[in-house]
Parts: sequence; structure tokens; C-alpha cells
Amino acid sequence: MKPQQLVITKGVNPKPEINAEWMARHGVYPKETVLPETQVEHCPKRRVADFPKGLIPPRLYERNLEHNQLLASCCRHPEKHKIKAKKSHPREPRADIYIFYCSCGRKHRVFCVGMGDERPEWK
Ligand SMILES: [Zn+2]
Repeated sequence: MKPQQLVITKGVNPKPEINAEWMARHGVYPKETVLPETQVEHCPKRRVADFPKGLIPPRLYERNLEHNQLLASCCRHPEKHKIKAKKSHPREPRADIYIFYCSCGRKHRVFCVGMGDERPEWK
């Protein structure tokens, strides 16, 4: 290949189409801007043990609780926790934040990204 055959192409901007609503949620803000809290409660705190087996998908606790050797042993048992679900923004279609409350007082949060996964909800 001769040097004159090389072509430099410009990078493609991966950002989605920018509109006012997108800018309000994901826009660029100056450093140290304090953004308003947008999380909303979605499902009340319940004992994990009270749910039918399988309702809470293992994906939510396997890696960050059961298999996490850095946690105290009490925290590695999801069935000893209470769980609560929140939405990160009122316009989220489903819950995307799950908080596990251990009996020792620690909280373990799981954030869900993308819509292809199962997200349990309860009243
Ligand atoms: Zn614990």
C-alpha cells in the first residue's frame, strides 16, 4: 500500500440525537453542579425469604453477595436480607435500583442497566 492510498476518516459521534429532554437527564454540566435527586421509591422493603423462590433473579445477588468473599458472612446470604426497589428517575419504565438490607445493618445496592434483563416488582 502506497502512503497516498491511506485515508483518514473522522470519528463518528456515538451520542444519541440530542434533544431538550435528553439534555435535561444526561446533558453536560459544569463541574460541581449539584443535580436534583431523581430517585423515586417503587417497591416497598420486604423480606427476601417471603418471596416465591425465583422471583428475585440470582443475577441480582449472586455476584455481589453470595460470591463476594470481601463481605462479612452474614451479608453473603440473600435470604437473610430485606429488599427494596427504586427507579432512578420517575420516567424509568421499570425499577432499576435494588437495595438489599442485611440484618447487620449494611446495605448492598444493585444498579440495572439496559432493558434486556428481568426486573422483579412487587407491592
Ligand atoms: Zn451482613
